[in-house]
Amino acid sequence: MRCIVLFVMFCLLSCAVFADEERPADDGKEGSELRLVIMGPPGAGKGTQAEKISKQYGIAHISTGAILRAEVAKGSKLGHQVEETMKKGELVTDDTVLRLVEERLRDPDCRDGFILDGFPRTIAQAEGLEKILERQHRGPVSVIDLVVPDEALSKRLLARGRADDTEETIKNRIRVYHENTAPLIAYYKKRGQLIRVNGDQPIADVFSTIMSELTPPE
Ligand code: AMP
Repeated sequence: MRCIVLFVMFCLLSCAVFADEERPADDGKEGSELRLVIMGPPGAGKGTQAEKISKQYGIAHISTGAILRAEVAKGSKLGHQVEETMKKGELVTDDTVLRLVEERLRDPDCRDGFILDGFPRTIAQAEGLEKILERQHRGPVSVIDLVVPDEALSKRLLARGRADDTEETIKNRIRVYHENTAPLIAYYKKRGQLIRVNGDQPIADVFSTIMSELTPPE
């Protein structure tokens, strides 16, 4: 009887372990997908460049800001929870965004790769992302950092006119960026994952600079 119970427990445990493995470790996919993060201050042009990169390579564009705005628009429970935080230009909790990203990365359109836009925004999120990728048997990300001076940012954001693009909120978002997100530059540089690109040029020039950095010369 004890043997049967042990056997059933073993079977259940195996099922649970394999159910969590979206990708068997040896399916050879690890190196062939493109895993990117695009970072930079608010207004640096992350969304624009991420969209172009996602089209160029046929990979999923994942914007945590867009996912959260969709939740607010739907009026979901999560939407209600994050609405005020977003209006003020503060950061939503690490746990919330990590949960959203982990789920999103399981979607079939992420199989050939993805570009994360606006995530990670804190060191805790970067560490959480590493764990997610490990759990999904994926390698590390390459990080494109768009460098744009502060003076150029407010002008760009005010021209964009999104709901959270008021002068007050913009100031706060740039402050939050320097406090919480800028430390990620050193974090990824130390790990050899950082690609710095001058984001203070016309859109097409930023894009071709990124392309040349991502495609190493023959
Ligand atoms: P974005 O579209 O990237 O500018 O994000 C808009 C707003 O969504 C931010 O000001 C934050 O309130 C929230 N948000 C988006 N991504 C994150 C993230 N990775 N961590 C925390 N909050 C986020």
